[in-house]
Amino acid sequence: MAENFDVVVIGSGPGGYAAAIRCAQKGATVALVEKAEMGGTCLNRGCVPSKALLGSAHFLRLAEKAELFGVRLGSIQPNWPKIQARKDAIVSGFRKGLSGLLKSNKVKIFEGRGIAEAAGKVRVENGADNIEIAAKSIILATGSEPAQIPGAAFDGETVISSTEALGLAEVPESMAIIGGGVIGCELACVYAAVGTKVTIIEALSQLLPAEDQWAGQLLARELKKQGIESIVGQKVISVETSGGIAKVSLQGAQTIEARKVLVAVGRRPVCDAETIDALGLKMNGPAIAVNDKMQTSTPGVYAIGDVVGTTFLAHGAFAEAEVAAANALGADKKMGDYSLIPRAVYTFPEVASVGMNEARCAEAGIDTAVGRAFFRANGRSAAHNETVGEVRVVRDKATDKIMGVTIVGATATEMISTGRTLLGSTEKITDLAFAHPTVSEVLKEAWEDAFGLSLHLPPRN
Ligand code: NAD
Repeated sequence: MAENFDVVVIGSGPGGYAAAIRCAQKGATVALVEKAEMGGTCLNRGCVPSKALLGSAHFLRLAEKAELFGVRLGSIQPNWPKIQARKDAIVSGFRKGLSGLLKSNKVKIFEGRGIAEAAGKVRVENGADNIEIAAKSIILATGSEPAQIPGAAFDGETVISSTEALGLAEVPESMAIIGGGVIGCELACVYAAVGTKVTIIEALSQLLPAEDQWAGQLLARELKKQGIESIVGQKVISVETSGGIAKVSLQGAQTIEARKVLVAVGRRPVCDAETIDALGLKMNGPAIAVNDKMQTSTPGVYAIGDVVGTTFLAHGAFAEAEVAAANALGADKKMGDYSLIPRAVYTFPEVASVGMNEARCAEAGIDTAVGRAFFRANGRSAAHNETVGEVRVVRDKATDKIMGVTIVGATATEMISTGRTLLGSTEKITDLAFAHPTVSEVLKEAWEDAFGLSLHLPPRN
């Protein structure tokens, strides 16, 4: 006999657990199926462990500058086993917290592989045991895995993905990182801080190709100061390994030798082939095709998060979970504009953006004015010796609307949520008080400058 629920969610990452909790909060009976650890990629192999490692790396970088603050420290040495243990403790603490949270919301957790056999019908396989679950709605939130490129297959030892890179037993002497995107740049900062010689190889013409060119170039300049070399506009052709050393061959005939090769060229949606076949799901390449209500081609079945291949961001999955959860319980909710979901990169310095940047506006034929402000002119940033960076606010000249905000600098990832609230606003901001001295005043200054009203910049001609 099948157990009955209103909603069954497959996958417990940010998309899956958020959808499960939202449905439960609205009074639905909810089952959540997970075959591995609770929390999915974000908590176990992504956002949380990488930020824990970056926390240690940041501390090391700060300690190196102690003399500048008038503080004398002894020798500064990373303790890698402790850095790893700290990261593991943070992850396991949050994992326990999540399980408790789901239980307190009366979400019933099923451990095992969840396979949708038909609309309203899920089988959970756990070893020899099979459990049948019936539900009015199914939400698929099965996530993604690291993508591979031809010529550089993962071997788990020398050629690795971000999963292994988060948990290396020892600090490697050298690392070549294929892909100068988000993962490549963040992990470069971690390993360079603990002494690894890091080289990033990026196929496109700048680091973080989704961002404006100035942001990618500014980041590359700052990474260089940390000893990280960036080679841009070069594709990796092949990787050969022998005796624990990899030889990475680039398009332009250059070769790089490294102890580890981290392949960080994007992620690929993962959905159970049996589920795809049984439901006859329409696909969009490897991703499940959905409409703006997060409905798949099969009525009563929704899909959210990395498996739909939209943002590959935890907070993108949270946003999609809200929509799917509402619709699974009978509402008629649509996803908003994806460009309004902020992008945040936790490098040194941080990079964050929201809305349409200068390049996107130019592509769309929008005539813009760009407000700029610099961290070096900000009192709080000077006090913290975090003077590198810039904020740019893009205004549509025809409508006065703020189209986008890009921030490179310390706490950019925190400030971007404030940047988000500016989008669409046509107001001049002279009426809005920002606390002084705060780093966020750089954002205010750039916003003012977009209207030619910057208080601390000389008048423009
Ligand atoms: P990404 O898309 O950010 O970057 C991959 C990069 O690899 C691209 O710049 C691409 O041009 C490059 N590339 C592809 N093939 C190449 C080749 N043969 N040689 C050299 N370069 C090549 O992907 P990612 O960094 O792997 O991250 C995966 C996903 O996870 C992303 O969508 C990202 O948004 C998400 N993520 C987000 C965060 C965050 O929000 N802070 C952190 C980590 C990961």
